[in-house]
Amino acid sequence: MASVPQHHPADPTDLKALKGRIPLLGLTGGIGSGKTAVSDLLGQLGAGIIDSDVIAHAITASGGIAIPMIQEQFGAEFIDPSGALNRGKMRALIFEKPALRKTLEHITHPLIRQESIKQAIKLAKADKPYLVFVIPLLIESGSWQGLLDHIAVVDCPESIQIERVMQRNQLTRAEVESILAAQASRKERLSQANTILHNDGDLMELNTEIHNLHQKIMEFKSNLASSS
Ligand code: ATP
Repeated sequence: MASVPQHHPADPTDLKALKGRIPLLGLTGGIGSGKTAVSDLLGQLGAGIIDSDVIAHAITASGGIAIPMIQEQFGAEFIDPSGALNRGKMRALIFEKPALRKTLEHITHPLIRQESIKQAIKLAKADKPYLVFVIPLLIESGSWQGLLDHIAVVDCPESIQIERVMQRNQLTRAEVESILAAQASRKERLSQANTILHNDGDLMELNTEIHNLHQKIMEFKSNLASSS
């Protein structure tokens, strides 16, 4: 296997230019906890959404900026005929050799961050009331916390996460458990939460919590405006 290629990610401190001008909310939670359900509603309420998963998908789609590096690192057999990452094959490889997850993330994470910052600057210019960074590995990355004003964690018991993801992605229990094992523990995640969105009930209950969070961030925004 070739050594990991070097590249030049955007400086995360670029986001500092936005700090204090527009509320920056981080949204995280374990796999299948309900981040998309939350960000969809916050988006409907007007927030600017920057979703790391959507970006991760785009950079590994056909013609995506991560493709040449993935091909160099893992080999052409991990790229499908359309030029996109062969996700099934990569998932199987990482399931077999969990350490390779880090190798892939070493390529994708800087590119995702670079694109996130680009989108954030664009959305701030478009006059969104606040920005939501949906970052599954926010706690694990260790580098976002200082830049965000508020961290919201979507939470539910692991047993519910496993059931939801098995059903949604047609994965085996063992596959979902191996993904969970690579993520921060529920306890670690909750210890960094400013707001916990409980998602162990139905979507109506979750919606109430999301509206409360929206109100809280809008109040933070008016305090920002009155103090500037
Ligand atoms: P991932 O980390 O995989 O991106 P996620 O945190 O974004 O997942 P969602 O995609 O929002 O999670 O939710 C996972 C699955 O569970 C989806 O199929 C979603 O429709 C379902 N789901 C989420 N919340 C609830 C709920 N309260 N009741 C029933 N189903 C739910």
